[in-house]
Amino acid sequence: MSDQDDELYSFEDDAKDASSKETEDTGVIPWKILMVDDSPEVHQVTRFVLRSMHFLGRPVEFISGYSAMEGRQLILEHPDAAVILLDVVMETDSAGLDMVKFIREDAGNRLIRIILRTGQPGQAPEAEVIQRYDINDYKNKAELSDDRLHTSVILALRSYERLHNEFIKRQASERTIEYLAYYDVWTGLPNRTLLLDRISQVVQSAVRHNWNAAVLYIDLDQFKRINDSLGHEIGDLLLKTVAERLRILVRGEDTVAHVSGDEFAILLPNLKDPEHSARVAEKALAAIQQPYQIEGQELHITASIGISVCPNDGSEGLTLIRNADTAMYQSKASGRNTYSFFKPEMTARALENLRVSNDLRRAIARNEFVLHYQPQVDLQTGRIVGAEALIRWQHPEWGLVFPGKFIGVAEETGLIQPMGEWVLREACRQNKAWQTAGLPPIDMAVNLSARQFDCGRIERVTTEALAETGLEAHHLELEVTESMIMQNVDQAIAVMKMLKTIGVKLSIDDFGTGYSSLNYLKRFPLDKLKIDQTFVRDIGIDEDDASIVTAIIGLAKSLKLKVIAEGVEKEMQLNFLRDGGCDEMQGYYFSKPIPAADFEALVRKSLVT
Ligand code: C2E
Ligand code: MG
Ligand code: MG
Repeated sequence: MSDQDDELYSFEDDAKDASSKETEDTGVIPWKILMVDDSPEVHQVTRFVLRSMHFLGRPVEFISGYSAMEGRQLILEHPDAAVILLDVVMETDSAGLDMVKFIREDAGNRLIRIILRTGQPGQAPEAEVIQRYDINDYKNKAELSDDRLHTSVILALRSYERLHNEFIKRQASERTIEYLAYYDVWTGLPNRTLLLDRISQVVQSAVRHNWNAAVLYIDLDQFKRINDSLGHEIGDLLLKTVAERLRILVRGEDTVAHVSGDEFAILLPNLKDPEHSARVAEKALAAIQQPYQIEGQELHITASIGISVCPNDGSEGLTLIRNADTAMYQSKASGRNTYSFFKPEMTARALENLRVSNDLRRAIARNEFVLHYQPQVDLQTGRIVGAEALIRWQHPEWGLVFPGKFIGVAEETGLIQPMGEWVLREACRQNKAWQTAGLPPIDMAVNLSARQFDCGRIERVTTEALAETGLEAHHLELEVTESMIMQNVDQAIAVMKMLKTIGVKLSIDDFGTGYSSLNYLKRFPLDKLKIDQTFVRDIGIDEDDASIVTAIIGLAKSLKLKVIAEGVEKEMQLNFLRDGGCDEMQGYYFSKPIPAADFEALVRKSLVT
């Protein structure tokens, strides 16, 4: 660059070209220095004096203006200029100071460093002005030696560099703040705020162009179980993987958001047919259902999805989200791992759920729960060999409420824990009471809920219930379901082994409806399989169901497990089961679940006959 500056007395502003050429050649960005002075000689001298100047490895680029007006133009054109060398007196005595004001106030450029220069003594700005307008230096042109100009500019560049870095940092932190306001840091997905924002944009164009948009509200099923049993770190990793799976599932124009905790949403902005959202929901369910490998463990989880469609189900972000959320609860109520479209009548059901959960909190304290007992009958001897304890809620207004109405709510709210513990104790107490009353000893089956199974307390709670009531462990049978143990197989095996050391029996309830594989089944320390009533119901009607029943009986035998059929209502079913080698049965054919006193009477009667 110094070569070009040899033309000391040329008035052409060629330094600029020279430096931009240098930029092209080396990729180094020069410092921009504006020089505004009505004296062409000053431009020439300054360029010469500073011709080989470098700061932090970067050369300087001069941009010249010869009047206050040109100076203003340069300020606006070069907001990234680092320093301005500014003549105080140009068209007017105060031209330079007016320009300082312009730079700081009108152009709002707080970064550029200002070096004022004047030809005459006595024109120095007042200290107050220097401070207010953040003027870096003041130089008398006559005094200027090479060194002092050089030093002054270097100091100005250093000061600019520092301010500029601070500015960049501040900008970055402002961007971070904005990011935090609109994104979930952990999953990197848009958060609820951004989702609402996008919905409101989408809704406008959907209404204008008369097309549909949909919101899918996705809630992981029983995610709390994973957090409770494996810890938040595993839970968080799982959420991250779910987020990733959802993200790659959708198209670029769709939004996947992390709404909160274990809740996600997908916004589909442009649907020709609202039914298409069901395809996306199916894909999401399938993606979430795939096994997860997290920290060496295989985990399983499913999700429930609710869908609301704009403009039918609302034309406002909050309404669409709320309605999709309501539909999601419907999916939970229909057994999870499914999707539902919002329907207006669901709002009523959501309100009912809310009432149930409110009343449920008081039910334990008010002793409103009762257990009914359903006999389990040996198919060879016809004797009652066991009972299953089934909970009922004696509600002061609604009368007898069945578990289908409140177990789900109790699980979601966590009330299942105290409720389940009460069931366990009460069932043990009752069984012992029957023995004390002289009835032949039977086994008492108690249903466990998923949350009870893996909260880490079940072993202690069981031991305590047995100790408190004096019931022998082998007269208590705990029922678990396939989905409970398949969510985390290794942990389930550990819990079950612990329970076996106490001496209780273990059975798998509703067998055949889950996805246990034979491989796993062999590893579980089980005593009994309970064939789900859906297969039993269709014996004699559906050949497939009959052969499933036969297969389950065969499977149980090969694993040396007892097998019991649930939901036996007809003699024909009973005969089929007995002929097929089934050990026990339970169902309306013999007896519905009944109160303890009726059960006792039934046993006594069966002893006589
Ligand atoms: P489950 O454990 O599979 O219980 C069998 C259900 O089938 C009971 O319904 C019973 O009344 C019904 N059932 C029995 N025989 C027949 C029959 O011949 N035909 C028909 N159609 N149904 C029959 P219930 O009492 O309404 O209980 C439903 C579910 O609620 C239970 O299914 C169980 O999963 C859950 N549950 C019940 N009590 C408790 C409890 O104390 N704790 C937990 N966690 N869950 C419970
Ligand atoms: Mg059961
Ligand atoms: Mg069952």
